[in-house]
Amino acid sequence: MTDTWTDRLSEYLDGELTDAERAALESHLASCRECVTRSPRLREVAARAAALMARPPADDLWPGIEPRLQSGANAVFPSARAPSRRFSFTLPQLAAAGIALMVMSGGGVWVLQHGGRATSAPASSRPIRLAPAPRVVSTR
Ligand SMILES: [Zn+2]
Repeated sequence: MTDTWTDRLSEYLDGELTDAERAALESHLASCRECVTRSPRLREVAARAAALMARPPADDLWPGIEPRLQSGANAVFPSARAPSRRFSFTLPQLAAAGIALMVMSGGGVWVLQHGGRATSAPASSRPIRLAPAPRVVSTR
């Protein structure tokens, strides 16, 4: 069971609450048994963590690592070179791409042959028939 102050106990222990929040939490601690039992545990955990962080590492590994890095970077990181991009396709993928190309080019030819006549624009290849010129007859 948690209440609104349970999650804020660590902020209280770290001194991150405002004065009003701290006063409200302290009055809550007088009545809430769960928070009272949690806060000493949190205080203990925080103290242990602080003690652990202050301890220096037992062995310094860097003097053994640094010369190996400087002797040959490629030996340490064999995949450090930029990988070349290579595409590969399976035979069914290539066959599907070929079929798709044939269908699209055939459809394009069909549209050019059949689809062009369906438009309402006048065809430029149709011969234009001119009306016969009026005949002028002289009677002199
Ligand atoms: Zn509580």
